[in-house]
This record gives sequence, structure tokens and C-alpha cells, in this order.
Amino acid sequence: MPPLNSRWSVLGVVIPFPSFNKPRCLGDSMRCSHCEKCCEDTQMELCKADIKRLERRGYERGDFLSSGTDGIPRLRNVGAYCYFYDHDRKRCKEYASRPLGCVIYPVNLTPEGHVVIDSLCPEGDTLTRDEIESEGRRLRRLLDTINMEARESTPSG
Ligand code: SF4
Repeated sequence: MPPLNSRWSVLGVVIPFPSFNKPRCLGDSMRCSHCEKCCEDTQMELCKADIKRLERRGYERGDFLSSGTDGIPRLRNVGAYCYFYDHDRKRCKEYASRPLGCVIYPVNLTPEGHVVIDSLCPEGDTLTRDEIESEGRRLRRLLDTINMEARESTPSG
């Protein structure tokens, strides 16, 4: 899964996003063919609510996340796939509690901030234009929150 292009902010303001604890699925039009591509080599960024939700499921954060020099927590890969990927079932082990970025995927942002469907996803064309636009707005809010949380947890120098 490619990185969320999160290193910018649309309006320069952080908008609280109260529904982080209850990920919902993309619209009814989205089909998933379980091609596995989006869980391979994941670089999915996590907000604090994602981390807490997965901890409540019994996981240790040290097992499922990695933090780079930018201070952004991301899902950890085991071998070539996400820590939560179940190879036998070809499914996410924590689908109902998966990170919000995974819920929003395949909607992504270009480095210029344009909402796009990730070209890796073979079912991306099953999303409606309304769904793409509304998930793009949701993704911007999520990325603003992740950036804000990273700034807050970075010691100021
Ligand atoms: S959390 Fe689940 S949906 Fe997200 S990348 Fe990992 S296995 Fe895939």
C-alpha cells in the first residue's frame, strides 16, 4: 500500500474528527476482490485513535507499529505484508478495527493534494464520484490529525 500523502494541510487548520473510534466502510458501491495488494508493503499512517482501538483488541503497539524519523506511526510489515494480514484467509485479521486510512483506501491524495484512486486497487472504479469526494475530505481531516499528533509528540527544541 503506498503512503498516504500527508505532508501538507489543505487549509492549515486541524479539524477534529470525532468518529475515529468507529471506522465505517466505504459506500455500498465499493467491491473488494481481495487481491491482497493494499496490505502488501503497507506504509499506512496511524492516528492515536487507531492505535488505541487496536490496543483495546489486545495488541501491543510495539508489535504492530513502527515510527520513522518523521515521528509518524505506521503499520509494521512482517515479511512483505502488514502485521495484521492473514495469509491463510487472505483477509485483514482486524478488519472491523482496522486503521481509518485502510477504511478510506483506495482513496488517496497526490503530493499536490488532489484526491485520486490509488492505481494499485483493481476495484477502484467501483466507487462513485460522491464517495471519492467525501472520502477525500475525510482523508484530509485524518492526515491533518496525524500531523498534529506527530507535532505534539515531538519534543520542541
Ligand atoms: S490493517 Fe488490515 S486492511 Fe490495513 S493494511 Fe493491515 S491487513 Fe490490510
